[in-house]
Amino acid sequence: MTEQVLLDARNVGKVVPTAEGELTILQDLSLAVREGESLAITGPSGSGKSTLLGILAGLDVPSSGEVILCGQNLTRMDEEKRAGVRAKHVGFVFQSFQLLPGLTALENVMLPMELHGLKDARSLARDYLARVGLAERLSHYPQQLSGGEQQRVAIARAFASQPDVLFADEPTGNLDQHTGAKIIDLLFDLNREQNTTLVLITHEERLAQRCGRRVHLVAGSLAEDTPSSAAQPAEV
Ligand code: ADP
Ligand code: MG
Repeated sequence: MTEQVLLDARNVGKVVPTAEGELTILQDLSLAVREGESLAITGPSGSGKSTLLGILAGLDVPSSGEVILCGQNLTRMDEEKRAGVRAKHVGFVFQSFQLLPGLTALENVMLPMELHGLKDARSLARDYLARVGLAERLSHYPQQLSGGEQQRVAIARAFASQPDVLFADEPTGNLDQHTGAKIIDLLFDLNREQNTTLVLITHEERLAQRCGRRVHLVAGSLAEDTPSSAAQPAEV
């Protein structure tokens, strides 16, 4: 297995203008993630986790510093080029799901694969939806699904594009214990089967523990960066 650095954030800062003046959200943050690694980002509400995830995934740009993803420097690109890198390498699960309301569950999951030109998009989308327990909900529109079901569609969609790296913001946040546990298993199946790098924000101890490493954010800076001792035995 290769151990190359897949994601390298160097001295990242994020400052935004507000009515009260400039607000520093992230400060001089450096973080390297290797191919196939699973990383949990933890920290109190407002510590900058979602902002960091958006910057690491190339959805947002830092005010200072650089982000290199799959060998490409995102900070030197315009939005169109970054979108190209995202489409090729990145999957996301947002806190707000971001499903397309006019498409069914099946169509939402098929879309990224169709954009990639995959021929068997429909049957793959069915498989992924079955794996998240939604085989009976293929033709439901997002508004006809519960919050937890929408989250599972978003997870199936992220898996379906077979990304090199999957970013997820609280992927189990809206799920009950049992469904949450299934989703966690699925995330780590993907990590193992496809060597997908995982970068996950979570408040859940059981999810953070499954990750090989965790970083803790406090007020926009990395406070801790530790390997997770429980990482290996948890799944056997
Ligand atoms: P977390 O995900 O850890 O809860 P966020 O990254 O969402 O934290 O936000 C960190 C802080 O930055 C919060 O206090 C939030 O209100 C603030 N913030 C985030 N985005 C903006 C923005 N575009 N403009 C002003 N403040 C923002
Ligand atoms: Mg957040």
